[in-house]
Amino acid sequence: MKKTLAILGAGESGVGAALLAKRHGYEVFVSDYGSIDKKYKEELIKNTIAFEEGRHDFETIGKANLVVKSPGIPDQVEIVKQVREQSIPVISEIEFAYPFCEGKILAITGSNGKTTTTNLCHHLLASSGKEVTKAGNVGTSFARVLLENPTPIYVLELSSFQLDGIIDFKPDIAVLTNITPDHLDRYDYLLDNYIKSKFRIAMNQGKKDLFIWNKDDENSAIVMQGKNHKQKVIGLAKEMLNENGFSSSQAIDYDLSNPALKGMHNKMNALMAIEACSAFKLDSSLLQTALNDFVNDPHRLELVRIENDIHFINDSKATNVDSVFYALDAMDDNIVWIAGGTDKGNDYSRLIPLASKVKALICLGIDNTKLIETFSPYIKNIEETNQMKDAIIRARIYAEPGDTVLLSPACASFDLFENYKDRGAQFKEEVLRQLN
Ligand code: ADP
Repeated sequence: MKKTLAILGAGESGVGAALLAKRHGYEVFVSDYGSIDKKYKEELIKNTIAFEEGRHDFETIGKANLVVKSPGIPDQVEIVKQVREQSIPVISEIEFAYPFCEGKILAITGSNGKTTTTNLCHHLLASSGKEVTKAGNVGTSFARVLLENPTPIYVLELSSFQLDGIIDFKPDIAVLTNITPDHLDRYDYLLDNYIKSKFRIAMNQGKKDLFIWNKDDENSAIVMQGKNHKQKVIGLAKEMLNENGFSSSQAIDYDLSNPALKGMHNKMNALMAIEACSAFKLDSSLLQTALNDFVNDPHRLELVRIENDIHFINDSKATNVDSVFYALDAMDDNIVWIAGGTDKGNDYSRLIPLASKVKALICLGIDNTKLIETFSPYIKNIEETNQMKDAIIRARIYAEPGDTVLLSPACASFDLFENYKDRGAQFKEEVLRQLN
């Protein structure tokens, strides 16, 4: 029987899946309700893959015997319901690609720290001489990597949405960094559903596989308590960290003084990455060198400039309360904190114990009511603006030598910016412009 595949969503994962499917003899149809990015459209045309945009045509999609749904598309949309009613299996691109993978898989999920831990694992493995590729939520799709750049090891960053669409996918090593409320609109506003989704990363693991989790994380601990595990399990906790770094479960000491690993959260990410990569039996001195020269992606506690002993830090990727907690915690006192944006139902109370470190709060959003109401009893200086330029002008009025100006918004960026990258880029540009 002819293998027919319909793909919903023509972004990186949809087009990656289409290319891989075509190579393996599927008849492929790609459908995007919005408009398709020019570079992806060109790829589809070049590879003679049929597609549509601006609509989902059930007549065509319903003829497929398998559907790959892109992670950004919620289950509730009409076309997904229609497909399910026809009993056509709906999977994620990760699940589709998995049977074509011949290498080892190290997969990372969590509410925060996925990209950092993925980058760390990739860097530790590559610096130790391993042929390794990173893929998934972090950039290139898994499917495309399997097609264009197969390697013996893959480091995959996986979101809960990607995990929702797996059936047989099984990583050799799975890492769950932490679980704090996020994206609950996609989980019927039930934290339990979101927790279950994250744990899917380990659901197919067997006795040769390894699962690494964070024992300090209450939501993970509830699931792990009293559970019998088929796979090997390593639970990590911040009590393993010491002043300089940590001692691994193999009793090897690692130093974490690299400024790119500033803050308790990054030290935990490094601990998790070392434990995950240790499964590949790597040389500890090479691992230490890799920890020393690790550079993270932009917008994650990124030092933009030191001027007059004032540090300007871009943490635009901090789109939820937990990541801001770690950012404020990682800084010395006298922080001029720029925050705000699209609130995803934030509970700011977790940040109140750290408010004493904040000298001034500059709210950068269209509606700042909740931030102002929460913090006005604790922070003396609170200002409001809806322009990055103005936010930096105001921040500089408060900042004195030794202080830090920190953009760590706790919110999504869509009210004033295109996305977190745009927000971070505008912060950097404005800081550099005003200081020159
Ligand atoms: P993700 O890919 O899960 O969004 P990132 O590594 O991109 O995670 O980091 C996103 C934000 O969360 C940044 O502000 C970063 O400083 C912060 N962060 C990184 N690791 C952790 C962690 N383990 N716990 C809490 N916050 C973290």
